[in-house]
Amino acid sequence: MGPETLESLQKQAIAEVLEAYPEKAKKNRAKHLGTDNPEGVKGSCDTTRSNKQTVPGVMSQRGCAYAGSKGVVWGPIKDMIHISHGPIGCGQYSRGGRRNYYIGTTGIDTFVTMNFSTDFNEKDIVFGGDKKLKKALEEIDELFPLNNGISIQSECPIGLIGDDIQAVAKVHKKETGHQTVAVSCEGFRGVSQSLGHHIANDMIRDHVMPDTSHRKDFESTPYDVAIIGDYNIGGDAWSTRLILEEMGLRVIAQWSGDATYKELAIAPKAKLNLLHCYRSMNYISRHMEQEFGIPWMEYNFFGPTKTTESLRKIASFFDEKIQEQTEKVIAKYTAMTDAVIAKFRPMLEGKKVMLYVGGLRPRHVIGAYEDLGMEVIGTGYEFGHGDDYKRTKEDLGRSTLIYDDANEYELEEFVKKLRPDLVAAGVKEKYVFQKMGLPFRQMHSWDYSGPYHGYDAFAIFAKDMDLAMNSPVWNHTKAPWDKEVEGA
Ligand code: SF4
Repeated sequence: MGPETLESLQKQAIAEVLEAYPEKAKKNRAKHLGTDNPEGVKGSCDTTRSNKQTVPGVMSQRGCAYAGSKGVVWGPIKDMIHISHGPIGCGQYSRGGRRNYYIGTTGIDTFVTMNFSTDFNEKDIVFGGDKKLKKALEEIDELFPLNNGISIQSECPIGLIGDDIQAVAKVHKKETGHQTVAVSCEGFRGVSQSLGHHIANDMIRDHVMPDTSHRKDFESTPYDVAIIGDYNIGGDAWSTRLILEEMGLRVIAQWSGDATYKELAIAPKAKLNLLHCYRSMNYISRHMEQEFGIPWMEYNFFGPTKTTESLRKIASFFDEKIQEQTEKVIAKYTAMTDAVIAKFRPMLEGKKVMLYVGGLRPRHVIGAYEDLGMEVIGTGYEFGHGDDYKRTKEDLGRSTLIYDDANEYELEEFVKKLRPDLVAAGVKEKYVFQKMGLPFRQMHSWDYSGPYHGYDAFAIFAKDMDLAMNSPVWNHTKAPWDKEVEGA
């Protein structure tokens, strides 16, 4: 399909989707939808409206502020206990879903996959839950003495009934000498999980950064870096770390996948902060720059082209020794990734993908698909801001449909009209499209696969995309549009 034909089809799809809305909703949603392309003209990436309240009544795919704090930023810190404060459901349904891998003995010195909750009931809502919280904190310390701190993650009711969890945390910290951080990340705050990331970053800034105890005896090297915004989904941070260490760098902290409290506290000792998920951790990276003078650099470890570009960018910050070693690393892995491309590209060449994800992926994974000869024809963010869309522009390969905070109806209609070969989105969308008879990959937690970061992981990514689209199961079903043609 030529670029003009595709762009006109995308514009037509937007017009048709908007027709179904009442006038007010139509006006609102029109500002979140558009097209853009790599050429210099101002397109949707420059103008899309984002980070705004979802239209009431639509099936939004967004999460809440609690999900952003507990589910993304704090939850993966493995040797702290993160207690979901409020009714049982929020903690239970956010438990383990993101597949943040970690090393340790669960229930002894690491706690990521466990669900700690104050399990609110009506009595707590009426009379307040501060006493219950205090008791829960004491029980945690008694039952799990090897925890290296507690974070309290507020669910919606806490803000509504006005409990003073900051005071409870302060008292507990004073009595035990244990780090105790109360995070007021009630789900209703803000318009999406994005504010939860920000609140979580602010709490790390206010409570962890001032803790210098672990930094006192820290022995620095000129090559210390911290990985920021990698949640070790399916082992992503581990595969990232291996490459950086092969370059000759020393990774002193992973934020926050497989991280310890100590790793958070020593991050200000890094010479360079390497930021993967800009959306969820740009706040703390900027803070460390202002407060400790640590520069930060964004990088992209999806697919060999972007990984190689990123390695050279990172190496340019260091001396010639690192730069030479980096070239050796690139040469070593390029031979391997070339073989992966030679194997999978013939089966994937020209296939079209529509993405709908969060954080960094709506732009970061485009290059990995392109390495396999595939084309991304639609992308959007659940909770992106203007700076995410601006960054997306440089990753576009061709005319691309841009959709911000898309709802289920819009996604379904866009897919029916643009007919991609693969939909790569989140768990809420997964079964909608699979039931339509379309190949789908879950790109929040890699379905049950991964890692996808770095050179080695590219082989897994390529294999997963091939399996999704070229599985023999598709011989037994048809895409909706093929069924329509057959029945016509
Ligand atoms: S919106 Fe409130 S009730 Fe719903 S999951 Fe988030 S914190 Fe829990």
